[in-house]
Order: sequence, then C-alpha cells, then structure tokens
Amino acid sequence: MKILVINAGSSSIKYQLLDLEDVHHFSLLASGLVEKIAEPVGRITHKVFPGSPKEAKVVEDRPFPSHREGLSRVVDLLCDPENGVIRDAAEIAGVGHRVLNCGEVYSDTVRVDADVKAAIRDFFPLGPLHNPANLMGIEVAEEFFPSAAQVAVFDTAFHGTMPPKAFLYAVPYEWYEKFRLRKYGFHGTSHKFIARAAQEFLGIPREETDIISLHLGNGCSMAAVRGGKCVDTSMGVTPLEGLVMGTRSGDIDATAVEYIADKTGADVHQMLVALNKKSGLKGICGVNDMREVVAAAEGGNERAALALDMFVYRIQKYIGSYLAVVPNVKALVFTGGIGENSDGVRARIFQGLEHLGLVLDPEKNAIRSPEPREIQAAEAKTKILVIPTNEELQIALETKAVIEGREI
Ligand code: AMP
Repeated sequence: MKILVINAGSSSIKYQLLDLEDVHHFSLLASGLVEKIAEPVGRITHKVFPGSPKEAKVVEDRPFPSHREGLSRVVDLLCDPENGVIRDAAEIAGVGHRVLNCGEVYSDTVRVDADVKAAIRDFFPLGPLHNPANLMGIEVAEEFFPSAAQVAVFDTAFHGTMPPKAFLYAVPYEWYEKFRLRKYGFHGTSHKFIARAAQEFLGIPREETDIISLHLGNGCSMAAVRGGKCVDTSMGVTPLEGLVMGTRSGDIDATAVEYIADKTGADVHQMLVALNKKSGLKGICGVNDMREVVAAAEGGNERAALALDMFVYRIQKYIGSYLAVVPNVKALVFTGGIGENSDGVRARIFQGLEHLGLVLDPEKNAIRSPEPREIQAAEAKTKILVIPTNEELQIALETKAVIEGREI
C-alpha cells in the first residue's frame, strides 16, 4: 500500500512516499523537502529511491508562494513520466500527517474529518507554530489526493496514557479545567516506535515492556514506559520543558522569565523566543549542533565543555528519576541524531552511573550501525540499547492501520 507521509511546517513541507506491507516490509519510493515557502525564492529537494543504488536527486530553486504550490510540485515530481515513482496520484491510498497537538480530544491516530480539523484548530493557541501549518498541510493534501484517506498522527498521542499525577502541574486546578494547561509531551511517534522496537528486540510481551527511552536530537525528550505505555515524559505543555536541547533551555524556574524581562525590557513573547531558540547548548556555548559542541569541547573550548556537561548532567538526573518510576526497567534505549550516533555523549552519560547497575561496554558502544543493538557491559544489571527511530515509517504504519480498520 502506498502511503505519503507529510510533515508540514510554517514555511516547509517534509515528505516521504512509502510502499509498505508492515514494519519489516516496506520500501521508500521518494522523499524530499520543500522549504522557504512564501519567500521570494524557495527550494525543493526531491529524491527518488533514497538510500538505494537507484537513488536520484532533483534540486530546484523557485518561488513557492504557498503550501499549495509546494505540494503541487511534489505531486508533479512523484508522477513525472520519466523519473516519477507512480503514474497517478490516485495510487496513493493514504496521506499520514504529522500533527503536533490535539490535547485530550483524540488520544490516538484518526481519519481526518471536520471534527478532527476543528479540534486541530482549537489547539492553535497551544501549538502556534505547528498546528496551523499541520492543518494547512491536510487541507492542501485533500485537494491533491481526493481519493486518499487523510490521517492525523499526533505527536502527543503516545503520552495520553500518563496518569494525572504525572501530567498535571501543581498550579491552580482550574488552569487545567478552564485552559487545558497540563503536560502533553512530544516526540510521541518516536517514543512509540522505540517502545515497540525494543519489545521486539528484547523478545518480551508488551505488558513486560518497561523501558526508559531517550530521544536525543536537536530536540530532546525522555519517556518512562511501563507495559508498553507511557507513564511520564520530560517535555511539557510545549516542547520547551525537560532536557537541555540544541536551542531550548529545558526545565527552568518560571520566575526567571519575569526577572530577565524586567532587566532587559523583553516581553513574554520575546522571552519565550529566547528560551526556545537562543538557549540550551547554543545559549551556553554559541552552537547547537552536537558534533560542533563535542569538537569544540575536545579542542579545549571551556564553554563547549560546560554545555556538554550540562546536557549530560540533566539526562543523568532524569534517568535517576525515571528509574524510580519504572522499577522493573528492562532497558534504556537511545535514539535520535545524538542518541544513535554519538558514542561520546553516551559514554559521558554513563560515567558515574555504575552504582545504578548501568555500565557501558566501550567496544560495543563504539560500533556504528543502522541496526538495533545492545551496548551494555556483561556486568550491567540493565540493558542499554541503541535503536534508530523512524517516525515516518511509524506514521505510515498507523495510516495503513486506520485505512484497514485495524487497531494501531
Ligand atoms: P536530529 O534532530 O535527530 O536530526 O539530531 C540532530 C542532532 O544530532 C545534531 O545536534 C547533530 O549534531 C547530532 N548528531 C548527528 N550525528 C552525530 C554524531 N556522529 N555525533 C554527535 N552528534 C551527532
């Protein structure tokens, strides 16, 4: 079944076209990115059969006044008589859309209808950067793929199983009742993919899948998972809370916002831009790309070393607290650009955690591979896994399940 996965941002559309049977039987027909939508010159980078010997790439710089023109070009490239991967847009059975947040309204993946669109719109204030773009992506896709099922996959959905003691903030209760203020958690599609993949790797039933998953990329989050279900996660009402990230501060005392706003004359909006875009690794050492931070730290840059220490220390603290929440933990699982690729960051995280039974095997940790693998030492009490995430595949699988009327 051919499924198009769309992740529409405010000025971009990321997409993949997959032909899939199940999690182990799929092929990637095309992938690409339309960027700088609504700017004088935009860009589309389109790849057919990415990662295979047949891979071919098209890059075009041209204006895309809106998402409509962007997706129109994607459809033309997909159906191109010479280099296309399908003959007709009608071959696509479903379009799976990544949608940021729909709160408690839909706790699972759903086929899009007028109610779903209204609910996505209703959550614009809690996802001002993403939800409007996600809805635009859906509306444009409905136009170009009228016969396909449009399916919304929410980034918050996996965290819908958290109990109130984990998702509520200790603030006046009516803020939750009236304004829906609570921890929602994000990266849910990735944590869900990882929980299932870890279950399969460990060869255990879902009810015994007790893990701590660490998605460490430019955005970073952790999830405490018991019986395959999320019981706590580090991101909050927005993705700002929790770990130190590329440009986000993670946990911070809210008083800091008032104090620095008073000192600098910034308003609340400017303060939140600073906490989301100018903080984290970037705030401490000026760069947000972990490869650059590690290289600078190893080259003697003290701020970069400090940023790395802070990044690692926050993760260690969350591991400690999630070990208390997941007493029968079977594995800690690393994913995301940093989690999958940086043996150096993983090694730093486990320095000093031996008393918790968490010990890495340095040789296994250094191995690079796209396959799921375990990297703990023989004497470790708990397994440590590296599992590459695949959010697009997860969205495509869920879209296919919705089309077939199967449980996800
Ligand atoms: P993501 O958002 O999942 O694409 O992850 C992006 C982050 O992964 C960036 O901070 C990259 O620097 C980081 N990353 C990718 N490869 C490596 C690597 N080999 N070592 C350290 N960081 C890496």
